[in-house]
Amino acid sequence: MIRMGMSITHLGTGSRGNATLLSSGSSHILVDQGFSGVQLEKRLKMLDVSPNDLEAIVITHHHGDHGGGALIAQKRWGVPVFANHRTTAELGLLPELTQQFEALDVLQFNQGISLLPVPVPHSGADNVAFVASHGGERSAIITDLGSWTDELVHHVRGCQHIAVEANYDRKRLMAGPYPSTLKDRITGRGGHLSNVQTGEFLSQVCTDATRSITLTHLSEMNNAPHLAESTVLFEIEEVFEGDINISMQDGPQFSHFIGRRDGDGFATNAIQRIQRKLP
Ligand SMILES: [Zn+2]
Ligand SMILES: [Zn+2]
Repeated sequence: MIRMGMSITHLGTGSRGNATLLSSGSSHILVDQGFSGVQLEKRLKMLDVSPNDLEAIVITHHHGDHGGGALIAQKRWGVPVFANHRTTAELGLLPELTQQFEALDVLQFNQGISLLPVPVPHSGADNVAFVASHGGERSAIITDLGSWTDELVHHVRGCQHIAVEANYDRKRLMAGPYPSTLKDRITGRGGHLSNVQTGEFLSQVCTDATRSITLTHLSEMNNAPHLAESTVLFEIEEVFEGDINISMQDGPQFSHFIGRRDGDGFATNAIQRIQRKLP
């Protein structure tokens, strides 16, 4: 049986905006909306999706690069937004178009897509990671965390696809121009993950079932794709044999799939590059 599965496509990740599209057939769910309305529309169009097609937007936390465009999407296109209590309040979301969730409440959407919000430590915010399930497989989307919990490891371990931030290279951050208070905040328990930390986390959650990894939210000042990739690969070489890709700020670049079966019933997770039309 051929089953189409669910695609995971980052429209862009980084401190200037984050949004990730989950699609299965006619169902489209956006995880985070940190872009302007114009940018969201433009990036979705490259995937032949309109903001009007969005079934829901789920928000990880209220920081502008993740939730800053949620209210615009409610006002302009009437898209329902799912967020926890703190995030809803901080973003001033419209009550009639907002559904609040608690940590570990499973959110069910059309075409058999479900999302599990798992709390992660991030200063000054009530942040969650999402574990998306479809067709008996799982994909985790984890960003903006300075450390991780046993609970997060429990829910992410063995996911078929894992998207996780690799925010900074420690040497670059320390040698860079940021004031020391900001450096302390980034490296703190509620800050962001360094490349080494991301590798350590992945070494705890990757299993034989894990086919692909996407590194996201790289700092443009304090990181570089080759540093993130080589550092993480060094940490996980004994537990991971799949493919690893890097999501940049200016997406979408590629899609991954979970829950997809080819004609012989085998799971397929081939990466699909997005054809970018020239402006
Ligand atoms: Zn962020
Ligand atoms: Zn944040």
